[in-house]
Amino acid sequence: MKRRDFCRTAVAAGIVMTLPACGRNGGPSNDLPQTIDAVSLDGNELSIERAAVTELADSLQGSLYLSGDDGYDTARKVWNGMFDDRRPAMVVQCASSDDVRNAVLFARDRQLLLSVKGGGHSFPGKSVADRGMMLDLSLMQAVTVDADAGIATVAGGALLGHLDSATLAHEMATTAGIVSHTGVGGFTLGGGMGRTDRLHGLAIDNLLSASVATADGRLLRASADENPDLFWAIRGGGGNFGVVTEFEFRLHPFDPTVYAGVLVFPFDAARDLIRVWAEHKDDWPRELNAEPSLFVNPEGDRIAMLEICYAGDPADGEKVVAPLLAVAKPVAGELGPMSYQAMQTMYDAATAHGQLNYLKSGLIGEITEPFIDAMVGNYEGEHLPWAWFQHLGGAISDVDPTATAYAHREAGYNNGMSATWQDPAESEARIAKIRAYYKALEPFMGGFYTNLNEDTEANTWGNYRENYPRLSDIKAQYDPTNLFRMNANIRPASKS
Ligand code: FAD
Repeated sequence: MKRRDFCRTAVAAGIVMTLPACGRNGGPSNDLPQTIDAVSLDGNELSIERAAVTELADSLQGSLYLSGDDGYDTARKVWNGMFDDRRPAMVVQCASSDDVRNAVLFARDRQLLLSVKGGGHSFPGKSVADRGMMLDLSLMQAVTVDADAGIATVAGGALLGHLDSATLAHEMATTAGIVSHTGVGGFTLGGGMGRTDRLHGLAIDNLLSASVATADGRLLRASADENPDLFWAIRGGGGNFGVVTEFEFRLHPFDPTVYAGVLVFPFDAARDLIRVWAEHKDDWPRELNAEPSLFVNPEGDRIAMLEICYAGDPADGEKVVAPLLAVAKPVAGELGPMSYQAMQTMYDAATAHGQLNYLKSGLIGEITEPFIDAMVGNYEGEHLPWAWFQHLGGAISDVDPTATAYAHREAGYNNGMSATWQDPAESEARIAKIRAYYKALEPFMGGFYTNLNEDTEANTWGNYRENYPRLSDIKAQYDPTNLFRMNANIRPASKS
């Protein structure tokens, strides 16, 4: 086994290493150019000295890739194929907190454009910096569970599937999203919605602490007791404040068999399905996650779908969903006891890496008749195959909107629209279609979930509502030069 392969395997297995260095850190390599062209935080041209890159590579337990290296093209990839043309000046694959701190300091000292890749699933490609440094956490994926304490310790580059597998093995769970190859990092820092969030809260509501590598090279623990401002800000404020190398989550006892499945209805049933679902908003138990959606079947016909996940006794689940099943007769699909982990991986293949993707979404307080008219009436299907909801409320809304940076506690639903395709020639039409549909629904929306939208600096301010000034102050404290800017960016408050 090659030394580099060995190192990767060891790190992925969570082995603490005292090993010879991997990748470019095995000593100077003669094929390195004298300088490496790159781009600064402000978009200016930069020339990075070869000696400095070699020194950084030498310092790493992980690997450093430059364009032309074996492995560079694999290392620079992110999930959304829309960003496959971005070529970082270097990819630093970190294997430890020290690697992360060294990489951060290297970028900061040179004002080098920096992106941080957790799972690489940012829809708008925030984790790949064209001609900058990509700080890649994919070697840091260990998850350990202390079942007695009910705590999972999760490395900053772990994926949701690693988290679910480790916790469910102990019949415990914490909120994770619906595709197992999504990163815990970006998912959690933006909020973290999943099939159990109405029961257990958002991922951030279960976060007990985090280790954060800040722009000045420190590794800080953030929790209710230590650096509480930082802890407040990372719970919804994204990657604005540093690189999280480790998360600690509270776990809940959890039966890994849930009452669940997906039903298909004729498109004509869509309005009633959404209406009845919304009418029962205050009646649904927190164990229930019910999500109607509009889709196109393989024959090209529009259909309505209903996904159910009831995290409680299956016999109760059957009774709970009865009002929805009374709306119309499903034409396909079934509900019944099934493995929660099977549910958590059922979209993995459809959402495989490298496809072209576009998505928009917005948060909704109450579903009204005009909204249903707009959503169903404007749904044409073609080029926009999926219009969907995330079922919110419950435990999410127990938390005060100012208790964490995530400000949208009152929202009952997240309403989104997305498409996945292969042929770049379709991109323009697909994107235009989704934007037009979004425009028809936007009047009903109040803000958006930063993890599932395009953001601009202008709308980021409004989206954090009353929390923005505090976020901006904390940003000025921990990242005054806005090194961490490839995210839904919060501007450091200017000192007067
Ligand atoms: P990345 O692209 O690696 O990172 C996204 C952002 O987070 C970047 O700004 C990055 O710099 C930052 N970041 C990542 N890790 C760290 C870290 N350790 N420290 C500091 N900053 C970091 N969201 C939900 O809430 N629920 C879902 O069910 C859900 N399903 C999804 C399914 C798919 C197929 C996809 C593509 C996305 C889904 N999302 C969902 C949205 C998802 O939460 C965001 O895309 C999230 O940003 C992905 O995190 P990541 O680490 O994979 O992304």
